[in-house]
Amino acid sequence: MNKPQPRLCPPPAPGQQPTADSVKRHPLGVCRVCGAITYRKEAINQRCGRSPRGHRCSGTYATAVRDAIWKRCTRCGGTGKRADSPCIYCRGIGWSLAKPWCF
Ligand SMILES: [Zn+2]
Ligand SMILES: [Zn+2]
Repeated sequence: MNKPQPRLCPPPAPGQQPTADSVKRHPLGVCRVCGAITYRKEAINQRCGRSPRGHRCSGTYATAVRDAIWKRCTRCGGTGKRADSPCIYCRGIGWSLAKPWCF
């Protein structure tokens, strides 16, 4: 008689487990218009000015310094990378906004 075996999670493959070093800090500011992020506190409330599609973004960076508004990307564990390419779920940031535009 075959007894059902308890399912064990496979051990993480080497290099797959994010280490404390590879987990990124979350960004400090987010453009309200295009969603661009910045890690510079000085950029908060400044013009975003990115021009991904040829015209300059008119948005400004809103403050996003509080940990509560970010959640770590579950797909990449906060590293921003899956295998050797940037994580598409968090755009390589390692974090996504827990409550978009509610900060
Ligand atoms: Zn922008
Ligand atoms: Zn991710």
